[in-house]
Amino acid sequence: MSMENKIRYLTCGYCSTGCNMIIKFDDKGKPIVRANLDYPVNQGKACPKGFQLLSHLNVDDRATTPYIRDHENRFIPITWEAALQEFVGNFKRIQNNYGKNSIAFISTGQITNEEHAFLGALAKFGMGMIHGDGNTRQCMATSVVAYKQSFGWDAPPFTYEDLEKSDVMIFFGSNAAISHPVIWWRIQNNLNDPTVVVIDPRKTETATDEITSLYYPIKAKSELYLLYTIANILIQNNWVDGEFVNTHTSGFKEFKKHIAKYTLESTARKTGISEEQISKLAEIIHKGKAVSFWWMVGVNQAHQGTRTAQALINLALMTGNIGKPGTGPNSITGQCNAMGARIFSNTTALLGGYDFTKESDRNTVAKILGIDSGVIPHVNSASYEKILEKIKEGKIKGLWVVCTNPAHSWINSNEFPEIVENLEYLVVQDMYYTTETAQLANLILPAAGTGEKDGTFVNSERRIGLLQKVLDPPGEALSDFDIFNRVADTWGCSHLFKRWTNPESAFQVIKKLTKGKPWDFSGIESYQMILDHGGIQWPYPSSKNKKTDTYRRLFDDGVFYHEDGKAQFLYDDILPYPEEINQDYPFILITGRGNISTWHTHTRTGKVPLLARKLPKDPYIEISTTDAKNLGIEENQWVQVSSRRDKIKVKALIGGRVKEGEVFMPMHYKETNKLTFPIFDEYSREPGYKFAAVQVKKDFEPI
Ligand code: SF4
Repeated sequence: MSMENKIRYLTCGYCSTGCNMIIKFDDKGKPIVRANLDYPVNQGKACPKGFQLLSHLNVDDRATTPYIRDHENRFIPITWEAALQEFVGNFKRIQNNYGKNSIAFISTGQITNEEHAFLGALAKFGMGMIHGDGNTRQCMATSVVAYKQSFGWDAPPFTYEDLEKSDVMIFFGSNAAISHPVIWWRIQNNLNDPTVVVIDPRKTETATDEITSLYYPIKAKSELYLLYTIANILIQNNWVDGEFVNTHTSGFKEFKKHIAKYTLESTARKTGISEEQISKLAEIIHKGKAVSFWWMVGVNQAHQGTRTAQALINLALMTGNIGKPGTGPNSITGQCNAMGARIFSNTTALLGGYDFTKESDRNTVAKILGIDSGVIPHVNSASYEKILEKIKEGKIKGLWVVCTNPAHSWINSNEFPEIVENLEYLVVQDMYYTTETAQLANLILPAAGTGEKDGTFVNSERRIGLLQKVLDPPGEALSDFDIFNRVADTWGCSHLFKRWTNPESAFQVIKKLTKGKPWDFSGIESYQMILDHGGIQWPYPSSKNKKTDTYRRLFDDGVFYHEDGKAQFLYDDILPYPEEINQDYPFILITGRGNISTWHTHTRTGKVPLLARKLPKDPYIEISTTDAKNLGIEENQWVQVSSRRDKIKVKALIGGRVKEGEVFMPMHYKETNKLTFPIFDEYSREPGYKFAAVQVKKDFEPI
């Protein structure tokens, strides 16, 4: 397909900021990527990953044909027809032998809305699966549950314009300067001279950025103490917006009683933040005219993540900082389409935000899709870690992994290859045949990447953005959408998807699923309309009197989604550290992002020289100068880091960003998750990647 002389628009396929890029072509037909100046999200800006958006496509280890593992353990290229027969034949055999629920899928936050919906509908309505989850469980499940419980719906209330309207901004567990750089850079447009407070155990790039006014070096996983104490100080000083609390919330009285026990003195000890600093923060929040609270995985990936996110929501509610410009308890999402997965993945909620367990919901979805409601499961899926447990127990025997790399990214990743041993068939659908997970597969299906297909994403501020195909996928690789279509054909359930002929026709179907829901975007007429508007935030219903401003926040009417229209104060007792720190394992390991140019498992960014050079080749930990001195460790020396699960060899980077007693390791190295501790938030089942007890030694024991 020749694209010369055409201009294409492409929403970035890395983070959830949702920047839009313009693609032009030079005389030789080579695409040139520029940031879209007119797009309301990025306004001509992009980070290094965005500018290299197409550079990971044309690389040597692209899967350009399906591959099957032969008897000698080699991957052999095969035709699509043979691959689909293999896939369907094995999955049907497994179902015949072990029952319908013995096959499952694990997907991603990086495919389009149309692909999410297609995969979820195909797997559950066509192939009869009950269990399917996604890697969004690893980063965003906590925010989903926190909002659902507090507001009655998974509804991040903000718009990026709030970054420019706040006068106080609290960034909690978010290294936005490198994880969501364009979101962070938008604070530069703020004319209120905002006080920007960063709270993080590690002195990150965000903590030290020139935009930041104050940095709070909190002890790892002591956040709830700080947040409950601040709430208590606000109450003690009568710094509560009583009118808002009385009219628009419930549970405040009980919350007030619960947090009365969190005092300055004990919290200063628990958090490592002085009493004066804690009081000062409460005062800053009180004095702010428009206060916004922003968080990311530093909050979400924790054993009490949901309650921590809700502690931030509680602060916004009790000070009336919601629904007005520059305010909000605002969760920044991770992957480019994690927000779309929240609506359409058909995993723990029925497609479009319905409930698998309600007959009326199943009937509604069936009617919209034009299918028999009898094909829709009556129960929710197990969560990611429970799916893996079922594999361990031999209850799930066939797994379809789409666009994710759990052998690297799953918590305590040592276990993943062992778990997979229990499967009879593992299908991996990915752009590359070299990922750690693809290497374990029986069958690899070659998929297209962002830039090689059409579709839509939803970004952190609920904006639906468009992706236009720029290049053809290489060889026999197909878009995930086309792969799902072919699987449906081979499985014999393509009659369910007669209207899903291409991504835009699927969009026309799935937008109807949102009608009447808080995320209703049934008013979007076409892909062209998304393009013309510079992306469209949900809600965008079809009714004539809808709000159509470019930037829209939720709850400006103070009405929430619970039946009584009120937001709820939610809280719990604080649990002890997830893993014991003792003499044998005296350090807390924190994991996180290494730099602005590296994305997650480094599967894509590792193939782009301009990005790859930012991540040191050898895995490393950051360790404080004092701890390094005490252990006799020198800069760049190889050291052994061990947890109760494994030992790894890394280089020591001394000083700088971590406190005594804490060490940091970027999540991008496959070694990192060999050490992480598999604990899960009670409500969201999100893994707690941010706390593991480890030992650091300069002497090596046999590994
Ligand atoms: Fe892409 Fe995020 Fe960078 Fe924007 S900030 S260019 S969306 S990775």
